[in-house]
Amino acid sequence: MEEITRKSIPEIVAGRLASQILDGTYQPGYQLPTERDLIKLFSISRSTLREALKSLEEINLIESRHGVGWFVSELNEDNLPKAHQIVQDAEISSTERIRLTPSESPEGPRRLPVHPEKPVIIPNLKKDRLGTFEFISWWEREKVEHAKIMVVGAGALGNEVIKNLILMGIGNIFIVDFDTIELANLSRSVLFRESESGRKKAEVAAARAKEINPNIHVQYLHGDITSAVGLGIFRRMDVIIGCLDNREARLAVNRFSYWINKPWVDGAIQEFMGLARVFVPGEGACFECSLTEQARRDLSIRYSCPLLARENILLGKVPTTPTIASIIAAIQSQEALKLIHNKPVKAGNVMHFNGMTNEMHTTAYTSVEDCESHWTYGNINELPMRSDSTTLTEMLQVARGDLGVNAVIELDQELILSLNCPTCETREEILRPISEVGFNRAHCPSCGVLRETEMTHTIHGNEKFLSRTLASLGVPPLHIIRAYNSEEYRFYELSGDLPDALHFKHFEQPAYEKPIKLTGRIKLHEKATFHDRPRIKIHKINLKNSEHLHDHVEIKIRGEK
Ligand SMILES: [Zn+2]
Ligand SMILES: [Zn+2]
Repeated sequence: MEEITRKSIPEIVAGRLASQILDGTYQPGYQLPTERDLIKLFSISRSTLREALKSLEEINLIESRHGVGWFVSELNEDNLPKAHQIVQDAEISSTERIRLTPSESPEGPRRLPVHPEKPVIIPNLKKDRLGTFEFISWWEREKVEHAKIMVVGAGALGNEVIKNLILMGIGNIFIVDFDTIELANLSRSVLFRESESGRKKAEVAAARAKEINPNIHVQYLHGDITSAVGLGIFRRMDVIIGCLDNREARLAVNRFSYWINKPWVDGAIQEFMGLARVFVPGEGACFECSLTEQARRDLSIRYSCPLLARENILLGKVPTTPTIASIIAAIQSQEALKLIHNKPVKAGNVMHFNGMTNEMHTTAYTSVEDCESHWTYGNINELPMRSDSTTLTEMLQVARGDLGVNAVIELDQELILSLNCPTCETREEILRPISEVGFNRAHCPSCGVLRETEMTHTIHGNEKFLSRTLASLGVPPLHIIRAYNSEEYRFYELSGDLPDALHFKHFEQPAYEKPIKLTGRIKLHEKATFHDRPRIKIHKINLKNSEHLHDHVEIKIRGEK
């Protein structure tokens, strides 16, 4: 009896420590409290503690570093089940009522845990542009180099965010914007030059990003975020950063991010004021929750005249300075960096910065229970189909194979079927997605009256236009199609678009050029002959000449015309 009890104390201490390692109180790579602190904490003798630590060392759960202390090992297939066993054994023994309550708050100074020890690397600061980041205790080069970040909007905020991402060496950047460069942008856009006026913002920003840091990979998409970017692209990002100037685009990014369960970082600026906020699906409020009643009403009013709503979005211009753009974009970029490293972020909170008073404050939004944005797609079926070659009939066939004959397809974008003049009683067939129909089309060409818009977003299978391709109806490449019957939804990705729609290969140079080898002796007055010269065509970054800018892949945004 004596024997068992005496043996149990180290066992219970080991169990406590093991369970704290398993629940993350002490994380792999971190140092345990000192032996002195542990002795106090458990009210035990040094020899008992040593025995407990030894048993944890035996299963490789902790390791001793001479003269420093005890460190938690990485958890693996081998030590994990053993750790659970130790926890379990200790629980059985504790029924024997041994006094072993750790004192609530040990008195005196306590040692703070040190950061996980990174392997000591002496970076070559002359050759390695990211070398200094290695000195940051939590910086993980691999995570940064493999990160995929989408930047939506290449205006004042977007320029600054992209600049920060390329300086930090974020490995893959996807830039989306539908706008072109105007001279007025130059006062707030470090990536643009006067000679580039009229060029696509997304393209120039991507080309310049690659020029500044050739080690990263970029891709651009000249198109509207609300309609031109397939959900499959969102799905393959780690973080989405919104650098937008209107509510409609933010709402679109918010919903897309929620549907495929990705965090996104929003920023907004006006004059000397700005705000930054992180939204993570399932963690607190989202952008839509943050809208006021008035804002919600505005949105629904604008949607009631759909063609005019789109027109207005394109007009929104807000006065800003490059300085407030730098401040807010810096915060956005840092939040993205934290998300990549799985560091805690305050999701559903907003950080306001007042540049007049230099005051900063953070408040939490309240999550709205029946918020329209709060739902996430289930399993996504990857189909080898493409948006520009798949017809509605083919898509319905796939959906009905899974969901039965009553399945319907739900498009994300309204499809304008026709414009009808109430005065002339004429009907003009349109059959185009709303993003392609301008407000100027809304008026009747003969009498000038505002025509009624007939539109739909549900495909039932009896439509006359089932032979049309998905792309021609506004479905972007690599999109995820929703279909449902009376009971459930299914989700189908047009994965056949993947190689063209997502590659991060814009403005790539050939990776390796063999050194030119001279063969034979060169005689005076005789031409030298070169062998082994690589036959790779070099695509130079030429920012003045847009035709030669991108390497072969042209993204088809609107599909067939
Ligand atoms: Zn919400
Ligand atoms: Zn008319």
